[in-house]
Amino acid sequence: MPNAKAYSVASATSPFTRTTIPRRDPTPHDVQIEVLFCGICHSDLHQARNEWSAMPTVYPCVPGHEIVGRVTKVGSAVTRFTAGELAGVGCLVDSDGTCPECKAHYEQFCPGAVYTYNSPDKHTGRVTYGGYSDSIVVNERFVLRIPPNLDLAGTAPLLCAGITTWSPLRRQGVTKNKKVGVVGLGGLGHMGVKFARALGAHVVVFTTSTFKVEDAHRLGAHEVAISKNAKEMSKHAGSFDMILDTVSALHDLTPYFAGLKRDGNLTLVGAPDQPHAVPAFALIFGNKSLSGSLIGGIQATQEMLDFCGEHRITSDVEVIPIQKLNEAYERLLKSDVKYRFSIDMASLKAE
Ligand code: NAP
Ligand code: ZN
Repeated sequence: MPNAKAYSVASATSPFTRTTIPRRDPTPHDVQIEVLFCGICHSDLHQARNEWSAMPTVYPCVPGHEIVGRVTKVGSAVTRFTAGELAGVGCLVDSDGTCPECKAHYEQFCPGAVYTYNSPDKHTGRVTYGGYSDSIVVNERFVLRIPPNLDLAGTAPLLCAGITTWSPLRRQGVTKNKKVGVVGLGGLGHMGVKFARALGAHVVVFTTSTFKVEDAHRLGAHEVAISKNAKEMSKHAGSFDMILDTVSALHDLTPYFAGLKRDGNLTLVGAPDQPHAVPAFALIFGNKSLSGSLIGGIQATQEMLDFCGEHRITSDVEVIPIQKLNEAYERLLKSDVKYRFSIDMASLKAE
Protein backbone atom coordinates (compact mmCIF):
# COMPACT_ATOMS: atom_id res chain seq x y z
CA MET A 1 0.00 0.00 0.00
CA PRO A 2 1.63 3.31 -1.03
CA ASN A 3 2.06 6.09 1.50
CA ALA A 4 0.94 9.70 1.11
CA LYS A 5 2.22 12.83 2.82
CA ALA A 6 -0.37 14.47 5.06
CA TYR A 7 -0.93 16.78 8.02
CA SER A 8 -2.75 15.31 11.01
CA VAL A 9 -3.71 16.13 14.58
CA ALA A 10 -3.04 13.58 17.33
CA SER A 11 -5.65 14.85 19.81
CA ALA A 12 -8.27 17.58 20.29
CA THR A 13 -5.62 19.94 21.64
CA SER A 14 -2.64 19.02 19.42
CA PRO A 15 -1.36 21.16 16.57
CA PHE A 16 -1.16 19.80 13.03
CA THR A 17 2.11 18.03 12.23
CA ARG A 18 3.55 16.27 9.17
CA THR A 19 2.83 12.56 8.89
CA THR A 20 2.47 9.75 6.37
CA ILE A 21 -0.78 7.86 5.80
CA PRO A 22 -1.63 4.74 3.81
CA ARG A 23 -3.52 5.22 0.54
CA ARG A 24 -4.71 2.12 -1.31
CA ASP A 25 -3.67 1.23 -4.84
CA PRO A 26 -6.70 1.99 -7.06
CA THR A 27 -9.15 -0.95 -7.14
CA PRO A 28 -11.02 -1.41 -10.48
CA HIS A 29 -13.54 1.40 -9.75
CA ASP A 30 -11.12 3.82 -8.09
CA VAL A 31 -9.58 7.09 -9.23
CA GLN A 32 -6.22 8.17 -7.78
CA ILE A 33 -5.93 11.94 -7.51
CA GLU A 34 -2.98 14.23 -6.87
CA VAL A 35 -4.43 16.90 -4.55
CA LEU A 36 -3.69 20.41 -5.86
CA PHE A 37 -5.81 22.55 -3.49
CA CYS A 38 -7.88 21.80 -0.39
CA GLY A 39 -10.16 24.30 1.32
CA ILE A 40 -10.35 24.65 5.12
CA CYS A 41 -13.97 24.23 6.26
CA HIS A 42 -15.09 25.12 9.79
CA SER A 43 -16.27 21.48 10.00
CA ASP A 44 -12.59 20.47 9.73
CA LEU A 45 -11.96 22.53 12.86
CA HIS A 46 -15.02 21.13 14.72
CA GLN A 47 -13.84 17.59 13.88
CA ALA A 48 -10.11 18.10 14.54
CA ARG A 49 -10.98 19.51 17.98
CA ASN A 50 -13.61 16.84 18.72
CA GLU A 51 -16.37 19.44 19.12
CA TRP A 52 -19.22 17.24 17.84
CA SER A 53 -20.50 14.79 20.46
CA ALA A 54 -22.55 12.94 17.81
CA MET A 55 -19.43 12.29 15.72
CA PRO A 56 -16.47 11.62 18.02
CA THR A 57 -13.09 12.09 16.40
CA VAL A 58 -10.78 9.14 15.84
CA TYR A 59 -7.13 10.20 16.07
CA PRO A 60 -4.92 10.73 14.24
CA CYS A 61 -7.30 12.87 12.20
CA VAL A 62 -6.57 14.20 8.69
CA PRO A 63 -9.41 16.60 7.75
CA GLY A 64 -10.11 18.18 4.37
CA HIS A 65 -13.20 17.71 2.16
CA GLU A 66 -12.87 20.52 -0.37
CA ILE A 67 -10.49 18.83 -2.77
CA VAL A 68 -9.46 19.73 -6.29
CA GLY A 69 -6.75 17.78 -8.04
CA ARG A 70 -5.54 15.94 -11.09
CA VAL A 71 -6.17 12.29 -11.90
CA THR A 72 -2.92 10.32 -11.82
CA LYS A 73 -4.19 6.76 -12.25
CA VAL A 74 -7.52 4.98 -12.76
CA GLY A 75 -8.70 1.44 -12.00
CA SER A 76 -9.37 -1.01 -14.85
CA ALA A 77 -13.18 -0.54 -14.75
CA VAL A 78 -13.23 3.28 -14.51
CA THR A 79 -15.10 4.83 -17.45
CA ARG A 80 -15.61 8.50 -16.54
CA PHE A 81 -12.06 9.69 -15.87
CA THR A 82 -8.63 9.32 -17.39
CA ALA A 83 -5.20 10.26 -16.12
CA GLY A 84 -4.40 13.96 -16.52
CA GLU A 85 -7.97 15.25 -16.08
CA LEU A 86 -9.06 17.63 -13.31
CA ALA A 87 -11.19 16.09 -10.58
CA GLY A 88 -12.98 17.16 -7.40
CA VAL A 89 -13.85 15.35 -4.17
CA GLY A 90 -16.21 16.70 -1.53
CA CYS A 91 -17.49 15.35 1.79
CA LEU A 92 -18.38 11.85 0.58
CA VAL A 93 -16.21 9.04 -0.81
CA ASP A 94 -18.58 6.04 -0.82
CA SER A 95 -22.12 4.79 -0.14
CA ASP A 96 -23.97 1.51 -0.72
CA GLY A 97 -25.41 2.75 -4.04
CA THR A 98 -28.58 0.66 -3.65
CA CYS A 99 -30.66 2.12 -0.78
CA PRO A 100 -33.60 4.51 -1.34
CA GLU A 101 -31.44 7.51 -0.34
CA CYS A 102 -28.77 6.64 -2.92
CA LYS A 103 -31.42 6.00 -5.56
CA ALA A 104 -32.92 9.43 -4.77
CA HIS A 105 -29.44 11.05 -5.16
CA TYR A 106 -29.11 11.79 -1.44
CA GLU A 107 -25.97 9.70 -0.86
CA GLN A 108 -25.20 11.78 2.26
CA PHE A 109 -28.10 10.03 4.02
CA CYS A 110 -27.20 6.48 2.94
CA PRO A 111 -26.77 4.23 6.03
CA GLY A 112 -23.49 3.15 4.42
CA ALA A 113 -22.26 6.66 3.57
CA VAL A 114 -18.50 6.99 3.97
CA TYR A 115 -17.33 10.52 4.69
CA THR A 116 -14.04 11.79 3.34
CA TYR A 117 -12.49 11.81 6.81
CA ASN A 118 -13.21 10.22 10.19
CA SER A 119 -15.42 7.45 8.70
CA PRO A 120 -14.61 3.72 9.01
CA ASP A 121 -12.49 2.76 5.99
CA LYS A 122 -13.12 -0.80 4.81
CA HIS A 123 -9.95 -0.73 2.70
CA THR A 124 -7.50 0.08 5.49
CA GLY A 125 -9.38 -0.97 8.63
CA ARG A 126 -8.70 2.54 9.97
CA VAL A 127 -10.74 5.69 9.37
CA THR A 128 -10.78 7.69 6.16
CA TYR A 129 -8.22 10.47 5.81
CA GLY A 130 -9.11 13.71 4.02
CA GLY A 131 -7.54 16.20 1.69
CA TYR A 132 -4.78 17.74 3.84
CA SER A 133 -2.64 15.32 1.87
CA ASP A 134 -0.81 15.06 -1.43
CA SER A 135 -3.07 12.32 -2.83
CA ILE A 136 -6.39 10.54 -2.35
CA VAL A 137 -8.03 7.45 -3.86
CA VAL A 138 -11.81 7.57 -4.35
CA ASN A 139 -14.49 5.44 -6.02
CA GLU A 140 -15.32 7.10 -9.35
CA ARG A 141 -19.00 7.56 -8.38
CA PHE A 142 -17.82 10.20 -5.90
CA VAL A 143 -15.44 12.06 -8.18
CA LEU A 144 -16.73 15.35 -9.64
CA ARG A 145 -15.94 17.02 -12.95
CA ILE A 146 -14.33 20.44 -12.60
CA PRO A 147 -15.27 23.14 -15.14
CA PRO A 148 -12.09 23.96 -17.09
CA ASN A 149 -12.51 27.76 -16.93
CA LEU A 150 -12.32 28.25 -13.14
CA ASP A 151 -9.43 29.17 -10.86
CA LEU A 152 -8.55 25.94 -9.01
CA ALA A 153 -7.76 27.43 -5.58
CA GLY A 154 -11.16 29.12 -5.56
CA THR A 155 -12.92 26.03 -6.92
CA ALA A 156 -11.89 23.70 -4.06
CA PRO A 157 -14.31 25.31 -1.51
CA LEU A 158 -17.23 24.70 -3.87
CA LEU A 159 -17.00 21.01 -2.95
CA CYS A 160 -18.39 21.70 0.54
CA ALA A 161 -19.17 25.39 1.13
CA GLY A 162 -20.61 25.57 -2.40
CA ILE A 163 -22.90 22.55 -2.34
CA THR A 164 -24.00 23.15 1.28
CA THR A 165 -25.41 26.56 0.41
CA TRP A 166 -26.56 25.72 -3.14
CA SER A 167 -28.67 22.78 -2.04
CA PRO A 168 -31.06 24.53 0.44
CA LEU A 169 -31.37 27.61 -1.80
CA ARG A 170 -32.53 25.34 -4.62
CA ARG A 171 -34.79 23.28 -2.34
CA GLN A 172 -36.52 26.48 -1.17
CA GLY A 173 -37.05 27.55 -4.77
CA VAL A 174 -34.94 30.70 -4.55
CA THR A 175 -35.30 32.72 -7.71
CA LYS A 176 -36.00 36.30 -8.72
CA ASN A 177 -38.66 38.15 -6.71
CA LYS A 178 -37.61 36.23 -3.58
CA LYS A 179 -35.95 37.92 -0.63
CA VAL A 180 -33.17 35.86 0.94
CA GLY A 181 -31.16 36.49 4.10
CA VAL A 182 -27.74 34.96 4.72
CA VAL A 183 -26.55 34.86 8.33
CA GLY A 184 -22.76 34.84 8.86
CA LEU A 185 -20.35 35.96 6.15
CA GLY A 186 -17.78 33.17 6.37
CA GLY A 187 -16.86 30.36 3.98
CA LEU A 188 -20.41 29.08 3.60
CA GLY A 189 -22.08 32.47 3.94
CA HIS A 190 -20.16 34.19 1.16
CA MET A 191 -21.03 31.34 -1.22
CA GLY A 192 -24.68 31.60 -0.14
CA VAL A 193 -24.60 35.29 -1.08
CA LYS A 194 -23.05 34.61 -4.50
CA PHE A 195 -25.56 31.86 -5.31
CA ALA A 196 -28.66 33.69 -4.03
CA ARG A 197 -27.62 36.70 -6.11
CA ALA A 198 -26.90 34.60 -9.21
CA LEU A 199 -30.33 32.95 -8.82
CA GLY A 200 -31.89 36.42 -9.00
CA ALA A 201 -32.97 36.96 -5.38
CA HIS A 202 -32.85 40.16 -3.34
CA VAL A 203 -30.07 39.36 -0.87
CA VAL A 204 -29.50 40.66 2.67
CA VAL A 205 -26.43 39.71 4.71
CA PHE A 206 -26.59 39.51 8.50
CA THR A 207 -23.15 39.85 10.00
CA THR A 208 -21.60 40.47 13.42
CA SER A 209 -18.52 42.00 11.74
CA THR A 210 -18.79 45.67 10.79
CA PHE A 211 -15.58 45.35 8.77
CA LYS A 212 -17.32 42.96 6.34
CA VAL A 213 -20.05 45.37 5.21
CA GLU A 214 -18.23 46.61 2.11
CA ASP A 215 -17.26 43.08 1.09
CA ALA A 216 -20.82 41.86 1.57
CA HIS A 217 -21.95 44.37 -1.07
CA ARG A 218 -19.07 43.43 -3.38
CA LEU A 219 -19.97 39.75 -3.04
CA GLY A 220 -23.55 40.46 -4.16
CA ALA A 221 -25.63 41.60 -1.18
CA HIS A 222 -28.19 44.31 -1.88
CA GLU A 223 -28.38 45.17 1.82
CA VAL A 224 -26.39 44.42 4.96
CA ALA A 225 -27.59 44.36 8.57
CA ILE A 226 -25.33 44.27 11.61
CA SER A 227 -26.98 41.52 13.62
CA LYS A 228 -26.10 43.08 17.00
CA ASN A 229 -28.03 46.23 16.06
CA ALA A 230 -31.72 45.76 16.96
CA LYS A 231 -32.81 48.71 14.80
CA GLU A 232 -31.14 47.34 11.68
CA MET A 233 -32.70 43.94 12.38
CA SER A 234 -36.25 45.18 12.93
CA LYS A 235 -36.17 46.97 9.56
CA HIS A 236 -36.52 43.58 7.86
CA ALA A 237 -39.32 42.16 10.06
CA GLY A 238 -41.78 39.91 8.21
CA SER A 239 -40.06 40.26 4.84
CA PHE A 240 -37.96 37.19 4.01
CA ASP A 241 -38.99 34.17 1.96
CA MET A 242 -35.94 32.35 3.24
CA ILE A 243 -33.02 32.87 5.60
CA LEU A 244 -29.93 30.67 5.39
CA ASP A 245 -28.08 30.49 8.70
CA THR A 246 -24.41 29.51 8.34
CA VAL A 247 -23.18 30.47 11.82
CA SER A 248 -20.75 28.03 13.47
CA ALA A 249 -21.58 29.05 17.07
CA LEU A 250 -24.64 29.17 19.29
CA HIS A 251 -26.67 32.38 18.78
CA ASP A 252 -30.21 33.73 19.15
CA LEU A 253 -32.50 32.65 16.30
CA THR A 254 -35.48 34.76 17.42
CA PRO A 255 -34.67 37.86 15.33
CA TYR A 256 -34.42 35.65 12.24
CA PHE A 257 -37.82 34.05 12.86
CA ALA A 258 -39.16 37.59 13.16
CA GLY A 259 -37.57 38.42 9.81
CA LEU A 260 -39.53 35.70 7.96
CA LYS A 261 -42.77 36.48 6.17
CA ARG A 262 -45.77 34.12 6.36
CA ASP A 263 -44.69 30.58 5.37
CA GLY A 264 -41.06 31.73 5.37
CA ASN A 265 -38.27 29.29 6.09
CA LEU A 266 -35.12 29.45 8.18
CA THR A 267 -32.62 26.79 7.14
CA LEU A 268 -29.74 25.95 9.46
CA VAL A 269 -26.53 24.73 7.90
CA GLY A 270 -24.21 26.00 10.63
CA ALA A 271 -23.49 23.18 13.06
CA PRO A 272 -22.66 24.20 16.64
CA ASP A 273 -22.74 21.28 19.06
CA GLN A 274 -25.04 22.95 21.62
CA PRO A 275 -28.82 23.12 20.96
CA HIS A 276 -30.41 26.34 19.76
CA ALA A 277 -33.46 27.63 21.66
CA VAL A 278 -36.60 27.61 19.49
CA PRO A 279 -39.50 29.70 20.84
CA ALA A 280 -42.68 27.99 19.59
CA PHE A 281 -44.68 31.19 19.20
CA ALA A 282 -42.06 32.69 16.91
CA LEU A 283 -42.81 29.88 14.45
CA ILE A 284 -46.53 29.36 15.07
CA PHE A 285 -47.50 32.95 14.27
CA GLY A 286 -46.94 33.06 10.54
CA ASN A 287 -46.78 29.33 9.72
CA LYS A 288 -42.99 29.64 9.65
CA SER A 289 -40.64 26.68 9.36
CA LEU A 290 -37.21 25.76 10.59
CA SER A 291 -35.16 23.26 8.55
CA GLY A 292 -31.71 21.80 8.42
CA SER A 293 -29.66 20.82 5.40
CA LEU A 294 -26.66 18.52 5.02
CA ILE A 295 -24.24 19.18 2.14
CA GLY A 296 -25.84 17.70 -1.01
CA GLY A 297 -25.80 14.56 -3.14
CA ILE A 298 -23.35 13.91 -5.95
CA GLN A 299 -25.76 14.82 -8.77
CA ALA A 300 -26.59 18.15 -7.08
CA THR A 301 -22.89 18.81 -6.50
CA GLN A 302 -22.18 18.36 -10.21
CA GLU A 303 -25.11 20.65 -11.09
CA MET A 304 -23.69 23.30 -8.75
CA LEU A 305 -20.20 22.98 -10.27
CA ASP A 306 -21.62 23.27 -13.80
CA PHE A 307 -23.60 26.36 -12.73
CA CYS A 308 -20.37 27.84 -11.32
CA GLY A 309 -18.61 27.14 -14.62
CA GLU A 310 -21.39 28.89 -16.57
CA HIS A 311 -21.59 31.86 -14.22
CA ARG A 312 -17.84 32.02 -13.44
CA ILE A 313 -18.45 31.63 -9.72
CA THR A 314 -15.65 30.61 -7.35
CA SER A 315 -14.92 31.14 -3.69
CA ASP A 316 -12.90 34.18 -2.54
CA VAL A 317 -9.82 32.51 -1.13
CA GLU A 318 -6.66 33.26 0.76
CA VAL A 319 -4.18 30.69 -0.54
CA ILE A 320 -1.84 29.39 2.16
CA PRO A 321 0.98 26.85 2.35
CA ILE A 322 0.12 23.82 4.48
CA GLN A 323 2.76 24.86 7.01
CA LYS A 324 0.38 27.69 8.03
CA LEU A 325 -2.47 25.33 9.01
CA ASN A 326 -2.27 25.95 12.75
CA GLU A 327 -2.25 29.71 12.28
CA ALA A 328 -5.16 29.45 9.82
CA TYR A 329 -7.28 27.57 12.37
CA GLU A 330 -6.76 30.32 14.95
CA ARG A 331 -7.70 32.95 12.40
CA LEU A 332 -10.79 30.99 11.31
CA LEU A 333 -12.00 31.05 14.92
CA LYS A 334 -11.71 34.85 14.90
CA SER A 335 -13.63 35.13 11.56
CA ASP A 336 -10.38 36.51 10.16
CA VAL A 337 -10.46 35.05 6.65
CA LYS A 338 -11.71 36.48 3.38
CA TYR A 339 -13.50 34.16 2.91
CA ARG A 340 -11.96 30.72 2.72
CA PHE A 341 -8.46 29.39 3.24
CA SER A 342 -7.33 27.21 0.35
CA ILE A 343 -4.19 25.14 0.92
CA ASP A 344 -1.77 25.03 -2.00
CA MET A 345 -0.61 21.43 -1.86
CA ALA A 346 2.60 22.23 -3.75
CA SER A 347 3.83 23.34 -0.31
CA LEU A 348 3.41 19.78 1.00
CA LYS A 349 5.10 18.20 -2.00
CA ALA A 350 8.06 20.51 -1.49
CA GLU A 351 8.63 19.27 2.10
P1 NAP B 1 -16.71 30.18 9.00
O1 NAP B 1 -15.99 30.47 7.74
O2 NAP B 1 -15.97 30.21 10.29
O3 NAP B 1 -17.99 31.17 9.05
C1 NAP B 1 -18.86 31.22 10.13
C2 NAP B 1 -19.36 32.66 10.28
O4 NAP B 1 -20.30 32.68 11.36
C3 NAP B 1 -18.30 33.65 10.70
O5 NAP B 1 -17.58 34.15 9.61
C4 NAP B 1 -19.12 34.74 11.37
O6 NAP B 1 -19.68 35.59 10.39
C5 NAP B 1 -20.27 33.96 12.00
N1 NAP B 1 -20.06 33.74 13.43
C6 NAP B 1 -19.04 33.09 14.03
N2 NAP B 1 -19.19 33.06 15.37
C7 NAP B 1 -20.35 33.70 15.62
C8 NAP B 1 -21.10 34.00 16.80
N3 NAP B 1 -20.66 33.63 18.02
N4 NAP B 1 -22.29 34.67 16.67
C9 NAP B 1 -22.75 35.04 15.46
N5 NAP B 1 -22.08 34.80 14.31
C10 NAP B 1 -20.90 34.14 14.39
O7 NAP B 1 -17.37 28.73 8.96
P2 NAP B 1 -17.93 27.89 7.69
O8 NAP B 1 -16.84 27.02 7.18
O9 NAP B 1 -18.67 28.79 6.81
O10 NAP B 1 -18.94 26.90 8.45
C11 NAP B 1 -20.05 27.42 9.16
C12 NAP B 1 -20.76 26.31 9.90
O11 NAP B 1 -21.38 25.44 8.96
C13 NAP B 1 -19.85 25.42 10.75
O12 NAP B 1 -20.54 25.09 11.96
C14 NAP B 1 -19.67 24.17 9.89
O13 NAP B 1 -19.40 23.01 10.62
C15 NAP B 1 -21.05 24.09 9.27
N6 NAP B 1 -21.13 23.30 8.04
C16 NAP B 1 -22.27 22.61 7.84
C17 NAP B 1 -22.43 21.88 6.69
C18 NAP B 1 -23.73 21.17 6.44
O14 NAP B 1 -23.77 20.28 5.60
N7 NAP B 1 -24.80 21.54 7.13
C19 NAP B 1 -21.40 21.82 5.75
C20 NAP B 1 -20.25 22.56 5.98
C21 NAP B 1 -20.11 23.31 7.13
P3 NAP B 1 -19.78 37.19 10.59
O15 NAP B 1 -18.37 37.64 10.88
O16 NAP B 1 -20.29 37.65 9.29
O17 NAP B 1 -20.73 37.41 11.71
ZN1 ZN C 1 -17.22 21.41 4.99
